[in-house]
Amino acid sequence: MKTDNKYDVIIVGGSYAGLSAAMSLGRSRKNVLILDGGLPCNRYTPYSHNFITQDGIFPKEIADKAREQVLKYKTVDLKNSLATEGGKVNDYFEIITDTGEVYNANKLIFATGIKDLLPFIKGFSECWGKTVIHCPYCHGYEFRDKKTGIMIDNEKAFHIAQLVNNLTDKISIITGGNNFLTPEQLKKLKKHNISIIDKEVVEMEQTEGIIKNVVFSDGSKIAFDVIYSSVPFEQNSNIPNQLGCALTDLGYLQVDSSHKTTVEGIFAIGDNSSPMRSVANAVATGNFAGAIVNMELTAEKF
Ligand SMILES: Cc1cc2nc3c(=O)[nH]c(=O)nc-3n(C[C@H](O)[C@H](O)[C@H](O)COP(=O)(O)OP(=O)(O)OC[C@H]3O[C@@H](n4cnc5c(N)ncnc54)[C@H](O)[C@@H]3O)c2cc1C
Repeated sequence: MKTDNKYDVIIVGGSYAGLSAAMSLGRSRKNVLILDGGLPCNRYTPYSHNFITQDGIFPKEIADKAREQVLKYKTVDLKNSLATEGGKVNDYFEIITDTGEVYNANKLIFATGIKDLLPFIKGFSECWGKTVIHCPYCHGYEFRDKKTGIMIDNEKAFHIAQLVNNLTDKISIITGGNNFLTPEQLKKLKKHNISIIDKEVVEMEQTEGIIKNVVFSDGSKIAFDVIYSSVPFEQNSNIPNQLGCALTDLGYLQVDSSHKTTVEGIFAIGDNSSPMRSVANAVATGNFAGAIVNMELTAEKF
């Protein structure tokens, strides 16, 4: 039962993962509050790919349609505000928002995503999501046969080179001067005509996010159509930490196979708890966690 600001579940984050969980719960007539800051991580990209029925769609269109469908369920509320604090009061969780409202719930689901920490390289942020991309599955096909740079200064570069080699044979790895490739890897890269550029990038020359040249610290430049990059990240929200949820060594919220965090009653879904970063995965984890939370709430009251 919902009374005033008391809900069965509060979902913090109302993008793909959060809305998916809300749909499972709304369809079971659970009282749900979604709090959403409105800043999904893919907002820089013009097209979202690799999610069946929605391939090549503007990302916001997918989220807008999801919102519209989820909010048809009468027990689901959504507020466009940020959760800023969380705590446990007696048997309930409490969430406070940036507008000073206080909400309570039996369960919490964090669908808060992650924040990419883009490097301070001139032109990089303008190209992010357009011609500087993070994932071959999301955007690689659109750059098939194109001149491709892999600007990653650690062992992940080799893994991406293997995958991208399915899409183009014009590949260079830009190591930034870091010597991380093994002799065995160098031999394999040579076999596939993948060149190595041991230089540091200082600028990406671009127009409206369309890259033209990569400029190196020695002043030289090379033309590329696309650059793969892997940037560090941090959690969007530190409320799970405030509440005692553990992180993995890689910085994700630690969850079990039911998306339960290390704190009873708190769940995490989507990018904040998974390196498999895709809209489809966010939706799948939300769908599953919604069912688990519904089952727990039902069993507790039955
Ligand atoms: C540039 C780029 C391009 C991408 N392209 C693709 C693609 O083509 N295909 C694909 O499948 N995937 C793509 N992805 C990955 C995909 O966007 C993510 O996997 C997906 O958005 C994760 O969904 P999520 O709901 O977990 O998090 P997000 O979509 O990032 O949403 C998190 C939400 O939580 C909200 N939030 C955070 N903290 C709070 C708080 N304290 N209170 C209230 N709300 C909060 C945010 O405002 C946001 O709305 C791309 C990612 C990037 C960065």
